[in-house]
Amino acid sequence: MLELSNRITLMELSPTLAMSQKSRDLKDQGIDVINLSVGEPDFKTPDHIKEAAHNAITNNYSYYSPIPGFLKLREAIVNKLKRDNNLEFTPEQIVVSNGAKQSILNVIMSVVNPGDEVLIPSPYWVSYVEIVKLAQGVNVLIPADIDQDFKITPEQLEAAITPKTKAFLFSSPSNPTGSIYSKEELKALAQVFEKHPDIVIISDEIYEHINYIGKHESIAQFEELKNQTVVINGVSKGYAMTGWRIGYLAAPLWIAKGCTKLQGQMTSGASSIAQMAAVEAFNGDQTCTQDMKKAFKQRQDVAFDLLSEIDDFKLKKPDGAFYFFPDVSSLFGKSYNGQTINNPTDLSLYLLEEAKVATVTGVAFGDSNCLRLSYATSEEIMAEAISRIKKAIEKLN
Ligand code: PMP
Ligand code: GLU
Repeated sequence: MLELSNRITLMELSPTLAMSQKSRDLKDQGIDVINLSVGEPDFKTPDHIKEAAHNAITNNYSYYSPIPGFLKLREAIVNKLKRDNNLEFTPEQIVVSNGAKQSILNVIMSVVNPGDEVLIPSPYWVSYVEIVKLAQGVNVLIPADIDQDFKITPEQLEAAITPKTKAFLFSSPSNPTGSIYSKEELKALAQVFEKHPDIVIISDEIYEHINYIGKHESIAQFEELKNQTVVINGVSKGYAMTGWRIGYLAAPLWIAKGCTKLQGQMTSGASSIAQMAAVEAFNGDQTCTQDMKKAFKQRQDVAFDLLSEIDDFKLKKPDGAFYFFPDVSSLFGKSYNGQTINNPTDLSLYLLEEAKVATVTGVAFGDSNCLRLSYATSEEIMAEAISRIKKAIEKLN
């Protein structure tokens, strides 16, 4: 029969990218939509990084790279991990991919067998559960709501572990909540994992540089977890390079080898030109990441004050990343023009129609009370978006 495989039929469309496309389509029709859906810095890639890419083209970086990336880039990543995180890796333990998304796919596909359980704190980033499904793994969600700052406790972790647990996958700073696990909180989780050396810990640190409360802490810092931890990171968020598609993983050698084998059959090495730009991102002047963080923080402060005026939003000021994730459940049951809001998906659609503001339903992240708003946009646009949201919400009763 001419039909798609079950694996694709059962897969959800990426809701973040789908909502962003919807808002682009509406814009193309001449409708003035403000897009707070996709999480992508609006800054331009810094000039010194762009120049490195120009040089790579001029110097004929036009051939296949080694599958895990140029040695020069893997060395730059090793230095970065030492410099910024005090982590020890060798270039053989690094695999560069087409974005952190592919790095996560590589690890999950390399370690998860059908039926293996993968623990994921919820809310989670949208693609985690779909990637696990692709590997025929079983998603085991560990819920954490706004009252626990969206962070799981060691007791919850311990209770979720079974003999079938193969991996644990989380982000800190978190997308969608912006929450950050402190060193003490990571240590408490690490003490649970020490008792379970067969569980692979996948630590997604793509928002490392967008941290408003202090130094980035990685769960990989605990020596006892050295043989079971994979760090995921990349250049998309910290260096405003989403379209360049460079991410990486730093892993125990056996996992790095598995990922290289998989990548060699799927996509080969990442773009040679983007890799040379990434070398400059990691080795060059780092003030660009600091400047962008400062700008995000200022936007957050302004937008937080405005959003706090919406009484129906239960809101926490996020520690990192560039998302607000308010609990909007007090609006459930309210209606306007015969349209009733029963969940955050209804609210997201209502705001798109009524306020012409694109957001993402918390359901996409495993949360049925919250709504995600990205503030990776200018203060003026953000203020206009919130004013529109406020007016639309005031119409509900
Ligand atoms: N992890 C998280 C938590 C993210 O928000 C994103 C951004 N889409 C990614 C991974 C993937 O990033 P990349 O652009 O490097 O694929
Ligand atoms: N991380 C972004 C987001 O969550 C990018 C979109 C995506 O890759 O799904 O909106």
